Amino acid sequence: MRPALATLLWLAAAAAMAAPVPQNHRDTYIYHGRRSSSLVALTFDDGPHAERTPRLMRILEELDCPATFFVLGNPCRANPRTLAALISSDFEIANHSMTHRNLREVSAERMRQEIDGLEEILIAAGAGPSRQFRPPYGNANRAVVEHVYGELGMDICLWSIDTNDWRSGTTSQEIIDQILRDARGGDIILMHDIHAKALDVVPVIVPALRERGLQFVTVQLV
Ligand SMILES: [Zn+2]
Repeated sequence: MRPALATLLWLAAAAAMAAPVPQNHRDTYIYHGRRSSSLVALTFDDGPHAERTPRLMRILEELDCPATFFVLGNPCRANPRTLAALISSDFEIANHSMTHRNLREVSAERMRQEIDGLEEILIAAGAGPSRQFRPPYGNANRAVVEHVYGELGMDICLWSIDTNDWRSGTTSQEIIDQILRDARGGDIILMHDIHAKALDVVPVIVPALRERGLQFVTVQLV
């Protein structure tokens, strides 16, 4: 099936299950799962990266640890082999837009292109449609919610623990300390697979949090 046709069919199916957008559209944002649960989700944004994402995947696979990758369109185009490896793995792939623009500052048409353009790439590569969308910088508005949640039927997924791993001043040890101090049931933890710190942090925090009884799941299950 040609990708364009697949996308059209998916858009039609998504429109058929359109959800009403609440009066306060922010009620649709997901920051964390149930606090009474023992489930936590690791999320990795802005990839795939040609070297770091495969290394991170190997670490997670050795730990038998599920995770969700919020990918961007341009890195998917630049790293098709890494995208294919992600798709053929058990990790969840989700939509983080084409080019990481602040969607509050672009036209409605550009906003749709940012989201739908990546969905087309993912569907053509054999993934998707995505169940989750994470707006770049966490910035959304009613128009984004109406398109993503209302028309496409995706959840809008933010996070409850921001590791700030992208900041040059944040060390891997500080991130480990933060996660071991703060993590509790329901948490959605934000990291980036384009930075090397996740490679240091994951092998430490996964066994440590499991020892406390926490269980790792993909973000749609948290
Ligand atoms: Zn991002």
